[in-house]
Amino acid sequence: DNNLNSLMKILEAMSENNIQSLVFSSSCTVYGQPDSLPVYESTPLKKAWSPYGNTKQISEAIIQDYISSGKSIKAIALRYFNPVGAHNSGLIGELPKGTPNNLMPYLTQTIVGLREKLYVFGNDYDTPDGTAIRDYIHVSDLANAHIDALKFIDRHSMHYYDIFNIGTGIGYSVLDVIKSAQKYIDTKINYEIVGRRLGDAEKIWACPDKANSVLNWYPKYKLDDMTQSAIRWEINYRNHSVL
Ligand code: UDP
Repeated sequence: DNNLNSLMKILEAMSENNIQSLVFSSSCTVYGQPDSLPVYESTPLKKAWSPYGNTKQISEAIIQDYISSGKSIKAIALRYFNPVGAHNSGLIGELPKGTPNNLMPYLTQTIVGLREKLYVFGNDYDTPDGTAIRDYIHVSDLANAHIDALKFIDRHSMHYYDIFNIGTGIGYSVLDVIKSAQKYIDTKINYEIVGRRLGDAEKIWACPDKANSVLNWYPKYKLDDMTQSAIRWEINYRNHSVL
């Protein structure tokens, strides 16, 4: 409902209100587990990892069909890799409802003592340390990609549609992320290796060349900036919250 019905409503509302430009939040999950890496925008889509990923594939198709059927809109789909981190001020960050599903909030909640330990899902993947690899992207770099996409789309005429990978092009394992976070805290991060999580891909990272050259978008932040800002936000939030 969130991903599909609301997209249909937004498209309708755009037509009714004469809004022409759409930047769509897509996801690297649309690639499934690709046969070769990095993934390019032209890499054929495999079966999505999850129902969520499937809704992103369907949403991209709906937008393309909407444009091909002659509706007066133009759109860019940004395929987000793994957005993590927080605003540098430490004031804006990620606060999932209930138990986090994603690695970074689970890790930072473990660091502040809200979770007993982080469970690392699988260390028997075909990767250098056995844990799964993702292309993590700082949320502030991701935010800037939207600004660049909006500026770019403004220069285009109606019915324009294109897709861009938004990642750094570098893959890090789950253990790399833990090691990076460990640099910013004195106590040892408590984690345990457990079995693989159903539906997880083994490894994926982007080729971001198209976003670099066409949108003139370049990520500024490295993995250490992502973990440091996420930890800073979590500590700041917990110290000031009444929870
Ligand atoms: N992961 C993990 N423990 C967790 C959450 C995630 O080991 O508590 C792993 C997960 O298996 C994947 C990576 O961390 O390899 C990133 O997972 P996340 O859910 O953040 O993003 P996804 O790539 O699944 O969209």
